[in-house]
Amino acid sequence: MVVTVRFAPSPTGFLHLGGLRTAIINYLFARKQGGTFILRIEDTDQSRIVSSSLADIFDVLNWVGIKPDKGPFTKEDAPNYVQSARLDIYKEKANELLDKGLAYRCFCSTTRLDLLRKEALKNRNIPRYDNRCRFLSDKEIDEKLSEKADYALRFRSEDQIVNVDDLIYGSTRFDVKNSEGDFIILKSNKFPSYHLANVIDDHSMEITHVLRGEEWLLSTPKHLMIYNAFGWDPPKFAHIPIILNEDGKKLSKRHQDLGVMSLKSRGYYPETIINYLMLTSSSFELKSNKLASLEEIVQQFNFDTIHRSRCKVSYSKLKALNRFAIKTKLEDDKQGFLLTLRNYLKDRFGEKVIDNETDDHLIFLFTESSGRYSNFGDFVEELGFVWTPCDPAWACDQFLPLGDLDKSVGGCLELISKEWSNSKERMDKLPFLKTYCSEKNVDYRLLMRFLRYSLVNSEIGLPVGQMLYVLGAEEFSRRVKKGIEYTKNQLKNSN
Ligand SMILES: [Zn+2]
Repeated sequence: MVVTVRFAPSPTGFLHLGGLRTAIINYLFARKQGGTFILRIEDTDQSRIVSSSLADIFDVLNWVGIKPDKGPFTKEDAPNYVQSARLDIYKEKANELLDKGLAYRCFCSTTRLDLLRKEALKNRNIPRYDNRCRFLSDKEIDEKLSEKADYALRFRSEDQIVNVDDLIYGSTRFDVKNSEGDFIILKSNKFPSYHLANVIDDHSMEITHVLRGEEWLLSTPKHLMIYNAFGWDPPKFAHIPIILNEDGKKLSKRHQDLGVMSLKSRGYYPETIINYLMLTSSSFELKSNKLASLEEIVQQFNFDTIHRSRCKVSYSKLKALNRFAIKTKLEDDKQGFLLTLRNYLKDRFGEKVIDNETDDHLIFLFTESSGRYSNFGDFVEELGFVWTPCDPAWACDQFLPLGDLDKSVGGCLELISKEWSNSKERMDKLPFLKTYCSEKNVDYRLLMRFLRYSLVNSEIGLPVGQMLYVLGAEEFSRRVKKGIEYTKNQLKNSN
């Protein structure tokens, strides 16, 4: 048997870590088995489509290096792998079931179906269709058809328990008829339901293994019923436990942070993402503190070691892995690392500003200044002030107790310059300033506040001592002197 698997996302939002993991597992399974990996776009729920998400799916797969063997990559290919281009096929197949008496027309209005649903919820029952149209007489049907009434096609569920054998979840029994009633296969707008399109495509694309998210397990008995109605052999199923957010909630396509491209834009490397997903969802292990390449992961991949339980996203683990990735980049491809970093910074602070930076200084800032950063996003968030000139704008009255600023703050600057030229060491706490303040009778906390405002125009950020280390005494002094001038002028004008 030649293994054929597919990744079948809906373009209804950006691809997040959970979606990508499904893609990777399919890819690895295909590579390991010498099989084929297909990309299929399931876009039949037109109301939920987000126009940018198709490009996002391609970008993500391309970025992490997971290349499908087949998919909608050219105009000629699209009709084979994009569901909205295959509507005629689904319609024809649905009508085949209608002709065989395995499906029937449902003329119920949306209003009626909504009422049924609300009624069920009110009585704390699971909403199910009451199968009313199953019992329409031929005469009633003909009347409605001659009135050109809209109808959907529903699958006639028989009284049977459906057993789903899942490669991960084992065997589960479902009673579709009594829990949901007859389900829709073709909507009144003549678009197929997810269930119908999915089964027809998996069959016609000769999919041997359906590896998909746990959320589809409940749909699988319906799919098996459709396979059975057509007389087709179903593929093997494996439902992969979902990844939850840190707070234990389901990942959502609206939760921007975990969008894969959003992680990319914050400076995560594709190796980090792939290694992370393998570590959290299987017994995959890192050899020493080096991330594995995609080829190495293929070598190591063993489907049987995929975890049977849900896992939570851990940002700290993602960061730790990206630190490994950065360390390796710096060792193996320093220029590549710097190029990426420079491009990232140029986007934020302009070309000119960043061109003035030496490679050594950038590496110093990234790896030494205040701990090793795990991604560009955190780096810019904390050290962005280096390239952002501070425009003084603050309430100056608060600094009246500092008295003559040239004396109180200016004196402190002299001391800092002296200490700096002696050591150039990292001085997180500037211990000598406390002594200075008690000798000169200057309010220490207010002085620190003044320095912080002058450096970054904000109360938050790195400790002042670290900012000194990052900026150097010269730039530090320049900013604080500007702050002194500004405050003096403001106070003078208000008098
Ligand atoms: Zn009906």
